[in-house]
Amino acid sequence: MQGVGFRPFIWKLAHRMSLRGYVLNDAKGVLIYVTGEGLDRFEAAISEQAPVLARVDTVESDAYHFDEIPDSFGITTSGAQGAETRVTPDAATCAECAADIRGDNPRRKGYAFTNCTHCGPRLTILRALPYDRAQTSMAAFEMCAECAREYADPADRRFHAQPVACVQCGPRVWLEAGGSELSGDAIALAARRLTEGQIVAIKGLGGFHLACDATNRDAIALLRARKHRPVKPFAAMGVLDHIRRFGMPSSEEAALLQDPAAPIVLISKGTETLPDGLAPGQNSYGWMLPYTPLLHLLMDVVDRPLVMTSGNLSGEPQVIGNDEARDKLSGFADAFLMNDREIMRRLDDSVERLTPQGPMVLRRARGRVPGTLPLPKGFEDATQVVAYGAHLKSAICLLKNGQALLSHHLGDLDEALTWDEFQKADADYADLFDHDPQVFACDLHPDYRSSRRAASRAAGKPLVEVQHHHAHLAACLAENGWARDAGPVAGIILDGLGLGTDNTVWGGEVLLGDYNGFERAAHLAPAPLVGGDAAGREPWRNLLARLDQAGMQDIADEMLSQRPLGLLRQAMASGVNAPLSSSAGRLFDAFAAALGFEGAQSFEGEAAMWLEAYAARAPLSRAYPYSFAQWENGVIDPVPMWDAWLGNRKTDTPPEAMAMRFHAGLAQAFCTPARALVETGQAKAVALSGGCFQNATLLSLCCEQLQDLPLLIHTKTPANDGGLALGQALIAAAAHSG
Ligand code: ZN
Ligand code: ZN
Ligand code: FE
Repeated sequence: MQGVGFRPFIWKLAHRMSLRGYVLNDAKGVLIYVTGEGLDRFEAAISEQAPVLARVDTVESDAYHFDEIPDSFGITTSGAQGAETRVTPDAATCAECAADIRGDNPRRKGYAFTNCTHCGPRLTILRALPYDRAQTSMAAFEMCAECAREYADPADRRFHAQPVACVQCGPRVWLEAGGSELSGDAIALAARRLTEGQIVAIKGLGGFHLACDATNRDAIALLRARKHRPVKPFAAMGVLDHIRRFGMPSSEEAALLQDPAAPIVLISKGTETLPDGLAPGQNSYGWMLPYTPLLHLLMDVVDRPLVMTSGNLSGEPQVIGNDEARDKLSGFADAFLMNDREIMRRLDDSVERLTPQGPMVLRRARGRVPGTLPLPKGFEDATQVVAYGAHLKSAICLLKNGQALLSHHLGDLDEALTWDEFQKADADYADLFDHDPQVFACDLHPDYRSSRRAASRAAGKPLVEVQHHHAHLAACLAENGWARDAGPVAGIILDGLGLGTDNTVWGGEVLLGDYNGFERAAHLAPAPLVGGDAAGREPWRNLLARLDQAGMQDIADEMLSQRPLGLLRQAMASGVNAPLSSSAGRLFDAFAAALGFEGAQSFEGEAAMWLEAYAARAPLSRAYPYSFAQWENGVIDPVPMWDAWLGNRKTDTPPEAMAMRFHAGLAQAFCTPARALVETGQAKAVALSGGCFQNATLLSLCCEQLQDLPLLIHTKTPANDGGLALGQALIAAAAHSG
């Protein structure tokens, strides 16, 4: 078990039951020495009544002899080192603190930094371990006598709450515009500007946000123009009433919104909609609840949904410093809602979604890290490993003492500042986890910055270069607790790009294997990536390659008449800047282009999201799947699919139906060989992984087709490259642990 607030909970429970003894944190969790009547009830109550932030994995008990029985029950300071992560994730304002800021106590009424042991900043204020106030950015604020009393009283909700603060002693908030601080109530001033259509930069827990009125079309358009972000959906913040007005949250979605992690949750649009500019072409909005007292107080005044997007220059990491914000965001924001508490760690908002199959993690960050995952059976004694992920959506993973720590989303390593962040995070997590890696893991691609860093840090220690899609498979096994010796599974890996063992680019695979190894049982017929990297940005290039391959040059000529087809066909024929790839992601792009997606994508995954949104609007949820051919050598050939599409195109079939037929066909094409592997006894289960499985329609179709088989899917870690390092780490551990 872990969790701030756990020892006071035990203290109160023991006092209520008149028990004697003491409680302390030890390396593996919380240790309780206790004597008295009703110890069974005490033990049961530990799991049943544990505070919200505590994670109780197991409660184990054993006989103990007290040399001297204590007079009462006490809390002992933790002497032990090496607890797994020793700091918990940041947590959204709890109900009691939310009541405090609207209550009568003048120390907390309207106070934007109210918190207690059940809520508040943690990782984002941590300077160094151990986690106590002196080592956080709250060290700059000396507690007043009242706060100090609360901090020292085990019966108080704020006992040992490191960031405890009140209006007398804690951080303060102000509004800044035109380079100077404005006088008056900062939150009221910011709210007025927002309701007037201005853009306000708000300093939050893990970075700055840019906010504007989500009901104001012009404000959204202004934000898009200033950010040079034409279509990528913005997230919105609202209270539950707003979310129910403009969306249709299920009770499970409402519960996820209210989780202490307070992630952004994708929720279907309702009948009443917000301006189109918020999430153009999407069927859902990304919503989050206010998760700090500051945001609660702001929402109380504006009383309408706000756009909340990260405050950064395009492609760069989110801004965290006050001066940095003034420097970089002044072109975007009309005013700054500032505060004087330093952000020590940059953390984006987490993004999640609920599907009929369970939770889906799209971006893992604030509120979720540094949470750990227990390693599957067989890895209890695994050596310490660090794995560096791939290149896009990078995250690193550390193994130690039977636990995996997957870092927060770090971003795309092309960007110099993100690369800096990546290197800092590497050192930082090593500290947090008290980590001394003996084995290093990275992608098979030698030119990724992450691979080069792994090679240089390994410096003679073992370095395991893991094939990209094998790592996706292992990540899915790991998060599902698939034991090390549980046998091979059939992994359907539908993904963007990853270097294969044959030096072509893979990404639409059925792999048969486990942590120890794999074989490539089936794969999408490869097609050239015309123009190399340009094929990732421009979906029509993939359409050209696939139509030519299907013998439909005339259709390509007609659909792409504006493009330099002669040159590109020459390049394909001679193999110049046209590497072969079995990527399912690029097939999604090709099909999006076939249905009319034009030009270049303005963000990664745009075409695939566009296609998914079309499919989700299909009149029939069970459209007849387009068929793919399956060759004996394991090649899954889309040519018959293109034939059927052409037939539909000639008869003016609605694009929604075609999009759904494509999804269903692709699912069937990969589920068929995976099923065969299970039915012939070669595989024990089917695992679904890779970036395409962030497409809920594709995931549902595959799950439906495989529902009678043991099935493993991602629900705790991202199916895309954000979860890749977990798989790399387990594969490296399997190769180097006895
Ligand atoms: Zn609280
Ligand atoms: Zn105080
Ligand atoms: Fe990938």
